[in-house]
Amino acid sequence: MPEVPAKPDVPTKPDVIVVGGGIIGLSAAWQLNQEGADVVVLDPAPGTGASHAAAGMLAPIHEAYWGESHILRLNMAASRAWPAFAESLGADAVDYRRNGMLMAAYDADDKALLDNLGDLHEQEGLPVERLRSRECRSREPLLAPGVRGGVYSPLDHQANPRRVVAELLRRVPTIPVSATEVTGNRVVADDGRVLVCQQVVVAAGAWTGRLLGVPIRPIKGQILRLSGPVGLLRLPVRGVVRGSSVYAVPRSDGEIVVGATQEEQGFDTRVTAGGVYELLRDVLALLPGLSEIDLVETWAGLRPGAPDNAPIIGTGDDGIVYATGHYRNGILTAPITAAAVSALVQGREPPIDLAAFSPNRFDAKPGGHTTDPESLSGVPA
Ligand SMILES: Cc1cc2nc3c(=O)[nH]c(=O)nc-3n(C[C@H](O)[C@H](O)[C@H](O)COP(=O)(O)OP(=O)(O)OC[C@H]3O[C@@H](n4cnc5c(N)ncnc54)[C@H](O)[C@@H]3O)c2cc1C
Repeated sequence: MPEVPAKPDVPTKPDVIVVGGGIIGLSAAWQLNQEGADVVVLDPAPGTGASHAAAGMLAPIHEAYWGESHILRLNMAASRAWPAFAESLGADAVDYRRNGMLMAAYDADDKALLDNLGDLHEQEGLPVERLRSRECRSREPLLAPGVRGGVYSPLDHQANPRRVVAELLRRVPTIPVSATEVTGNRVVADDGRVLVCQQVVVAAGAWTGRLLGVPIRPIKGQILRLSGPVGLLRLPVRGVVRGSSVYAVPRSDGEIVVGATQEEQGFDTRVTAGGVYELLRDVLALLPGLSEIDLVETWAGLRPGAPDNAPIIGTGDDGIVYATGHYRNGILTAPITAAAVSALVQGREPPIDLAAFSPNRFDAKPGGHTTDPESLSGVPA
């Protein structure tokens, strides 16, 4: 395990101010800090946004969708960046586990849906194994006997996002204030302070649309945490159950994270009876053996989503570096986003082509670049 460096003091004249202390802002700050920049993160409650809710699947393959090859490429690059990122924080400390992931179909219609995804995996040349029912159950004995088949992906991994954030917070200086105004290289905080630096990075997750005029909206996800014997569930399992998606991710301490709903409800983080019911109904259909273990937490978080489901990573016309809109894959893409942000700030070539993720890509489109995230709707979940 790497030695934890002393948390740097809050710099009096920072080179870089990062607005937002979720996994994206903190990872970017940590990367900049490692490259010698004096950086500070502003956030009234760091680590309490979507990053606190997330399951921590690092799953480029199971997150591949038709028509999103550019997102798949980013996610694959992120997956390759994860081992070094985990190592820099302590792989055990963040519970980074490279045990692959199983996607299982509950009934015949769900199997047809999975077969269709399998075609995409083949077309993209992704390493997956298509499994029959019995093969699924020999990989994960907890699966219901009726499961129709599945897909195993050896490249999809997992980490514990809460532990990642905790490790990052030990390494990055933070000021507990909210930014109320960001212009160029100047940030006004809610305590009246005006901070000036060479470069502002905005990573305010679902709230970025409220702060600046990018079309980012919150997509609510309800999620549960169960607790049982260590090793009860061997593998992270994603299921399609009568057309809806559910997953169960086992941690090394016996926790099993069950998620997640996808809801267009604005800035609402209520946990509802209906949301919890749907998750338990589907996960227990798929993994009946989980019914006896403890339900220890219900939670809801807000994923930051752009109209085209792709993140926003790049320098805007306003000179601000944006790192937001990571939607369902912000834990996976944190290290590659951090490397890209650091390169942009330092004037280097980013490690990935950012053209498809530019903050300016919405400008020319009708309805693009609105300041009211509530007005954006109808985007597929
Ligand atoms: C239920 C659920 C399950 C998920 N599962 C996964 C998964 O398995 N794998 C995966 O890769 N991703 C997953 N995600 C997505 C992932 O959680 C997000 O993409 C990621 O956490 C986004 O990180 P972020 O730092 O951009 O946002 P956040 O974590 O939301 O952080 C934004 C921060 O900005 C701060 N902030 C807001 N406004 C201001 C302001 N004006 N001034 C200062 N600070 C401000 C907030 O306090 C907050 O701390 C999941 C999300 C949810 C909700």
